[in-house]
Amino acid sequence: MSEAPPPTRYRVAVRELCEFTAKQGSLDLRFTPAPTALEGMAGHALVAERRGEGYRAELSLSGDYQSLQVRGRADGYQPRLRRLEEIKTYKGRLQDQPDSHRRLHWAQAKIYGWLLCQQEGLDELEVALVYFHVGSQQETLLSERCSASELRLHFEQHCERFLAWAEQELAHRQARDTALQALQFPFGEFRAGQRQLAEAVYRAAQGGRCLLAEAPTGIGKTAGTLFPLLKAAPTQRLDKIFFLAAKTSGRQLALDALQALDAPGLRRLEMVARDKACEHPDKACHGDACPLALGFYDRLPAARAAAVAQSGALDQARVRELALQHQVCPYYLSQELARWADVVVGDYNYYFDLGALLHGLVQANQWRVGLLVDEAHNLVERGRKMYTAELLPDSLAQARRSPAARAHPALKKALDKLARAWRALDKAQAEPYRVYEAMPEPLLSALQACSGAITEHFSEHPAESDAALQTFYFEALHLGRMAELLDSHSLVDLSRPATAAMAGNSTLCIRNIVPAPFLRPRLEAAHTSTLFSATLQPRPYYADLLGLPETHAVLQVGSPFDAAQLQVHISRAISTRYPDRRASLAPIAALIARQYADQPGNYLAFFSSYDYLQQVAELLAREQPQLPIWTQSRRMLEAERQQFLARFAEDGAGIGFAVLGGAFSEGIDLPGRRLIGAFVATLGLPQINAVNEQIRQRMQTLFGTGYDYTYLFPGLQKVVQAAGRVIRTPSDQGVLHLIDDRFARPQVQRLLPPWWALDGG
Ligand code: SF4
Repeated sequence: MSEAPPPTRYRVAVRELCEFTAKQGSLDLRFTPAPTALEGMAGHALVAERRGEGYRAELSLSGDYQSLQVRGRADGYQPRLRRLEEIKTYKGRLQDQPDSHRRLHWAQAKIYGWLLCQQEGLDELEVALVYFHVGSQQETLLSERCSASELRLHFEQHCERFLAWAEQELAHRQARDTALQALQFPFGEFRAGQRQLAEAVYRAAQGGRCLLAEAPTGIGKTAGTLFPLLKAAPTQRLDKIFFLAAKTSGRQLALDALQALDAPGLRRLEMVARDKACEHPDKACHGDACPLALGFYDRLPAARAAAVAQSGALDQARVRELALQHQVCPYYLSQELARWADVVVGDYNYYFDLGALLHGLVQANQWRVGLLVDEAHNLVERGRKMYTAELLPDSLAQARRSPAARAHPALKKALDKLARAWRALDKAQAEPYRVYEAMPEPLLSALQACSGAITEHFSEHPAESDAALQTFYFEALHLGRMAELLDSHSLVDLSRPATAAMAGNSTLCIRNIVPAPFLRPRLEAAHTSTLFSATLQPRPYYADLLGLPETHAVLQVGSPFDAAQLQVHISRAISTRYPDRRASLAPIAALIARQYADQPGNYLAFFSSYDYLQQVAELLAREQPQLPIWTQSRRMLEAERQQFLARFAEDGAGIGFAVLGGAFSEGIDLPGRRLIGAFVATLGLPQINAVNEQIRQRMQTLFGTGYDYTYLFPGLQKVVQAAGRVIRTPSDQGVLHLIDDRFARPQVQRLLPPWWALDGG
């Protein structure tokens, strides 16, 4: 891909310009039903169809004002009537629409009006807002006849309000790019493997490609990916870099690396979830309830200006400080700052979720972005969760009992009808678990009717808030949306817990198993992306499930560690298969005790479940009461996790029992004597059950590798991650016991890191 020319003008989308210049008053995120993207598109298409021949839909327009280039797509133009139309689809009642929304719509429509007058040489124009109700399909048309000079004045006033900011942004961009060109790697020499990684990331950015990079722990992957992408940003004209992490620890590493890289003037923003940033969790996000929402847009310009003027990182603490100084909401301030930051550090969901903020901004602004996806093996499971939708019996039951349902018969009727359709389906299903070809039609119709009734209810009673009804509504909408997007990437299933005696307690799920079709367009929307992790084997598995573009590059960085650092033993005489669990308890406990007696120190012992872990821990405690042990428990709080990890002191000794795939099996760093060995008493294979068997069949159909994609690869990935806790630096020494005879199989050993020297144990 060729390099883009340096920007001499500031390009801004009409919508973004108006968001900046026309928003006033309070933040109002009171829940109002809104059309889905598909409903919106269908509404626009229907209006265009009604207009008939000669109607020009989706008109690309642009115009300049001093150093600004303003561009966008007007919804439609009727040359016969000389009418420019801005179409807005909606649900609910038009009279409830806040004035601020209407102001914004007029501001946009009139800017398009001027751009069209200029382009077509018109001296006047009818500018119309067409409000299209997605339910009734009725149109409400509000229009004004405007002269070209009035529209021009309107355009110039908005541009003038934005101009100083745009010029500041152009200057910032230039200074930033100059600083990035001069940026030096701050850590002296690259570590072994780190240069290779950095070069590959740089090449991927130059080629506008996606890179899948497997690089071992300890080489400095965070700095090794951020530095080359920052260096590539000026020549590739990257607008932003997004560093996306699965966990808070990954975000912190990125912020620390950015601090150390110390690029002058680089705006670094951390995004955190609403529940972590909210100052008034007991309030709703609108001016009547929350003081930080009241007058938000009036105080936002000063808060925004202060944020971009400061030199340090805009991490959670700093954004909070600024927000409170200016009396605006920290969470929504950080959303605004995402528009102006150079590097945004946040969770995967800010880019990959169906309605993700960062992806939405990329689309709206046509930004060129560089993506870094940290610990990318996690994106398979996280992606599946994002694109899975469930309808839970409890949610429906609570919605039916909600005050709103009790007070409004129409609502109650729709909820009851859905419950009946659900129960009928459940009753007709003899087996506790079943996969359906598609969403069962009667249930889907009842669900849609129910969503429609709740939409109507919320539209007619905007002041009524009902948490139970709202929770159910969001679940129903998400399910409806995933039903629209249903394809072979997901299963529709109904499962009934073994304990549920009565019909009506089943869970209906659209279960995403291949997130690739959703992830791929997101990856393709970026100019370049690097997905990196220490465990990305086998690569075709990740390429298939993560939807990597066909042209993606791959890199495997060799380990800086050598076989002499880690003694790997395979316990061929022990089977951890479910039927053999009882028999395995004593030999595993004896193995742990023997290893500890030979070499006292800190160890981690991983098991496939809490029950298994508990059984071995209890046996060991009985037989070796002098041996210090501590165990992971279900739903540990953060403080309890810290206590668990604190036991791994330099001079400590004992065995920490943990669950494979849990909080202690990846992302924790216990170098040197803090951890001298690990036991992995399982292959980590997901349980064989009805759901996984369905997944296996679908994987077989899609990729021809059902067992491997469902059981073997995900299991071994967890084993390698957990075992990776032992050797963290080139001076570490350790021991690893792989406990199960299947570890001796060649197809399993092929999935283990090549630098391990395996023996028969
Ligand atoms: S402080 Fe909390 S309640 Fe107030 S606007 Fe922000 S997120 Fe909403």
